This record gives sequence, C-alpha cells and structure tokens, in this order.
Amino acid sequence: MTTAHIIDGKAFAAGLRERIKSAVPTFQNQAGRAPGLAVVLVGEDPASQVYVASKHKATIAAGMESFEHRLPADTAQADLIALVEKLNADDTVDGILVQLPLPEGLDEKAVVMAIDPDKDVDGLHVINAGRLANGEEALTPCTPLGSLMLLKDTLGDLSGLNAVVVGRSILVGKPMAQLLLGENCTVTMAHSRTKDLPEVVRRADIVVAAVGRAEMVKGDWLKDGAVVIDVGINRLDPEPGKERGRLVGDVATSEAMDHVRAITPVPGGVGPMTIAVLLRNTLVAASAREGLEKPEGF
Ligand code: NDP
Repeated sequence: MTTAHIIDGKAFAAGLRERIKSAVPTFQNQAGRAPGLAVVLVGEDPASQVYVASKHKATIAAGMESFEHRLPADTAQADLIALVEKLNADDTVDGILVQLPLPEGLDEKAVVMAIDPDKDVDGLHVINAGRLANGEEALTPCTPLGSLMLLKDTLGDLSGLNAVVVGRSILVGKPMAQLLLGENCTVTMAHSRTKDLPEVVRRADIVVAAVGRAEMVKGDWLKDGAVVIDVGINRLDPEPGKERGRLVGDVATSEAMDHVRAITPVPGGVGPMTIAVLLRNTLVAASAREGLEKPEGF
C-alpha cells in the first residue's frame, strides 16, 4: 500500500480555533464577559516560555481573556498554591493552567490538586481523571482529546476497532485509552514491560504512540490499513554542519507509509492540536461555570 493519507493536524487545529473564535461572541452575549484563561509560569525554562507565549497569543486570537502570571524559580510552594487559590476564587477566570514541569523543589501533584477541577483545563486533576474513567463529562487532557478528534475526523465511527495505545502516562496514554474506550474501541495499553510489542501493535486498527523514543515503532509492526497517531516529539542529534537535529515522532514514518491508511506527521500532526484543544476546554469550562449549555459541536 502506498496511498497513505497524511493527517493534517495543523489545518484541523486551525479550523477548530476558527470554530472556537466564532462561538466566543455567543458566550460573551450570554455571560456578559469573555472566557478567561490564566496561565502560571514558574521559573525561566526556555521551552516553557515558548509554550506560554504561544498559549497567550492563541487565547487572545480566539477572543478570550488571557491572564499571565510569571513567578520566579525560587517561589515557595505555599505562595504558588495561594496564587492558584486566588485564581480559583476569581470569577473572570474559567481555566487555570500551571505550566509543567515546575522547578525543582515544587510539588507538581499538590499544585495540580489545588486547582478547582471545574477550571482544570489541562484535565490533570484526579477528579477529572475519575470523571473520564467513569464516562462522565470531564475536562480532558488536551493532547489525547486532540488525537481523538483527528481519529474521528479520519475514521468516523470508531466502534469495535482494535486500538493499541503505547505509553501509559497520566498526560497522554491513560486518558487516550479512556477516550478510545468511550468510543467503543477494544483497547490495549502497552508500556515498557509489554511482551512482544511488535505483535501487540500488529493487531491494531488504531495505533497511538506516546512513548518519547525516536522512530521506535517500525513499519512492519503495523497492520495494513491501520491509522496511526504519532504523539512523540523527539529531537535527533544534529547532522554534520547543522545546529539542531530534526524532530521525529515515535513512529518510523516513511516505513509506516507503506502499510498504513493514514498517519499524523511530526511536526504538524498532534502538536498543533494541543493549544486548540486548550482553548476548546476553556470555552467548555466557561460555559459550564455560567450554567450555559455546552456550545454546539464541541
Ligand atoms: P512519559 O515519559 O510520561 O511516558 C512514556 C511512556 O512510554 C511510559 O508509559 C513508558 O512505559 C512508555 N515506554 C517507554 N519506553 C517504552 C518502550 N521501549 N516500549 C513501550 N513503551 C515504552 O511521556 P509522555 O506520555 O508525557 O509523552 C510521550 C511523548 O509524547 C513524548 O515524546 C512527548 O514529548 C510527547 N508529547 C507530545 C505532546 C504534543 O504533541 N503536544 C504533548 C505531550 C507529550 P512505563 O510506564 O512502563 O515506564
């Protein structure tokens, strides 16, 4: 097979952002204010600074309020929690995102647990993980929810399909498996202790790779006609004369193309979905907090 479709996450995310932007005025008319997203950045990690700046820009572009809080790396745990509590109590804030990882010495879990679950737009609070596991309405981590949107756009109904999720992190693998189960897939979760991973992956109609190991999933691990979501982002060593190495996913894409029906590229696949879904979660959280119906199509 050589007709693999490249799933254009960049275009899908741009469309989603447009739809959110169009839905914001309706919320604003009903609530008398725009949805608000607060992002907290502690320290000066360069990658985190880039993410926070992109989130700010995207929030403003969607017509929402963006509240940025930058704290020094030596911020005390109690002061960070106090800020989160202040944001919990602020009615103009619908979503709270504390950019991870936090500098050493700060307890990430305790900080996430301090966030009001109804404002937890990253979906990392145990209450949201529990709601998702119970099949209830939940704020869901952005990357897996974005991955599910791409899968549904590609395949339509996922019911009855065999899905293999490689990776079991709280951020990606576990919520991904729950979302696929919610779509009536038969879900297998694989991880570093899985025996004969290639054979497990070969059974899958849907493969989601969220491992963080460059091009680990080989072309001949994939069943003909499978649909592959490559969540991994790995930077290879630079080629001679180059300053930075290429970005690749967890799947050996060019080999995979001979087998699969469709695959997300890296970059330009799942990556752009994350911020778009963050905006979606903020709009959905804002509507729920105002007692409004979930905006149509979200
Ligand atoms: P984690 O490191 O938290 O989890 C990695 C998972 O992969 C673990 O469950 C681990 O298993 C499993 N694993 C490790 N080695 C193997 C192996 N040899 N075979 C099978 N499974 C293995 O990573 P994340 O879930 O946070 O992220 C995964 C990837 O996705 C990374 O490349 C990250 O950069 C990317 N990512 C991309 C995002 C985006 O596009 N916006 C957002 C978030 C992540 P075990 O539990 O047994 O240790």
